[in-house]
Amino acid sequence: QPLNTDTERPLSEPSIAFIGAGNMASSIIGGLVESGHSPDAICAADPSPESLERLRRSLRRTAPVRTSTDNATAVSGADVVILAVKPQVMSQVLEGIAGPVAEAGALVISIAAGITIDSMRARLGDSTAIVRCMPNTPALLGCGASALFANARVDAAQRGHAETILGAVGIVEWVPTEAALDAITALSGSGPAYFFLFMEAMIEAGCELGLERETATAMARQTALGAARMAIEGDADLVELRRRVTSPGGTTQAAIESFESDGLRDTVKRAMQAAANRAVEMA
Ligand code: NAD
Repeated sequence: QPLNTDTERPLSEPSIAFIGAGNMASSIIGGLVESGHSPDAICAADPSPESLERLRRSLRRTAPVRTSTDNATAVSGADVVILAVKPQVMSQVLEGIAGPVAEAGALVISIAAGITIDSMRARLGDSTAIVRCMPNTPALLGCGASALFANARVDAAQRGHAETILGAVGIVEWVPTEAALDAITALSGSGPAYFFLFMEAMIEAGCELGLERETATAMARQTALGAARMAIEGDADLVELRRRVTSPGGTTQAAIESFESDGLRDTVKRAMQAAANRAVEMA
């Protein structure tokens, strides 16, 4: 790979500024460094010394990344700027970095919920390349599901950068419209909580059937993990996987028929519609 002689890092490797060094930024930075991204090509900015210290501690097994308490300093010269702050501080953050972003011609990637491309473009300028991302909390463990939408200013190389960066904490899918991110929010953004609720319900039911809570909890968690791994790694689609567990006239069939006659599918549709509606209202 050709090297950039100033920094001795591959020319294809973008220099990345993280604005906000909290939980999500720390996970993405950790994933990037572990997958071989040069730590000196990463700068994290956060006004909170505690956040920067937590980031340093989380990276104690690798070379440290650069840090700053000043957003504009981190952005200057960056190829990619990741906005990893809470939505409430976004407008103030955008105002502070608009100049350096324009000067660097940087790609801006926002992972903040509900902040539209239009609202970012209004503060950063029409020519800014912007990717809006909807990640989810399992990204904190490196098994997230992130959906990305790019505006027309984003070129192929920048798309590649966005995939590499979010790919450091899980799978990445592009969506063709910004509105699709509201559906993604309803599916994978809020989705972990649906599975938690389902597991809670299974544990309660297990207890009512006479199990100790500890036993029911251990079995429900491991069953969720096993089912997820079979769905991802198995050789069949979901319907076929379900069919294989469901012997005619058996126990699973009795449960599945009960779910279906109670309208589980409609219950899920209504819940996800409610989540998508709320995502639209909040944008
Ligand atoms: P966090 O609170 O852990 O981190 C936010 C960081 O931003 C903090 O360290 C804070 O000090 C810093 N900050 C505050 N004001 C700032 C400023 N003016 N300039 C720079 N930094 C500033 O939050 P998080 O969980 O990492 O979430 C970050 C974003 O990701 C949020 O917008 C959230 O909606 C989104 N998100 C998070 C998750 C998740 O799983 N945690 C999932 C989906 C989306």
